Amino acid sequence: MAFKLPKLPYKSDALKKFIGKRTMEIHHGKHHNGYTTKLNAAIKGTKLEKKKIEAILAVAGKSGAGVRNNGGGYYNHSLFWKVMSPSGGKAPAAKSKLGAAIDKDFGSFEKFQEAFTTAAKTQFGSGWAWLCVDKKGKLFVSSTPNQDNPLMDCVRKKGTPILGLDVWEHAYYLKYQNRRPDYVSNFFKVINWKEVAKRFTAATK
Ligand code: MN
Repeated sequence: MAFKLPKLPYKSDALKKFIGKRTMEIHHGKHHNGYTTKLNAAIKGTKLEKKKIEAILAVAGKSGAGVRNNGGGYYNHSLFWKVMSPSGGKAPAAKSKLGAAIDKDFGSFEKFQEAFTTAAKTQFGSGWAWLCVDKKGKLFVSSTPNQDNPLMDCVRKKGTPILGLDVWEHAYYLKYQNRRPDYVSNFFKVINWKEVAKRFTAATK
């Protein structure tokens, strides 16, 4: 079964404190749609055709650039839309499972935010910043180039991503031009921590 472009979970102007309508429309309707179409073309008639996206990503490094770039692009954007919400931005309660894990693994929410911001700002060129869970259930922050992600066999630091930020220029250029740090700082106003907590629970089960 071919992969389908997921619908945005809100209207395209709903996250305007972070990103504008036009960028959302192009980013979802053109970029994400392009990755989805090209992923389907790359796996068509191969043994990957009936696999889940996570299984495809686990062999992305040895499956050619078409699978790696478009499989990553499909998965990364599908996660990205869901970990944002117009009513987001409220950090997880310190007593919640995720809040406690952030305190334990980073020292405090502020220290996590600092690490994530640094990862997003210093990823050279196009890529993503991540909050992930490793095999032992420990949280870590990382960044990857292009459309790579921590589920891929070819990525050095592996884990399950529970939060991701797209730092390709196509994600922010219309509103921010070269000001990536402002884009990263506004991301924190829309993070859907409920969704991130849900993914944390699923990843540590
Ligand atoms: Mn993108």
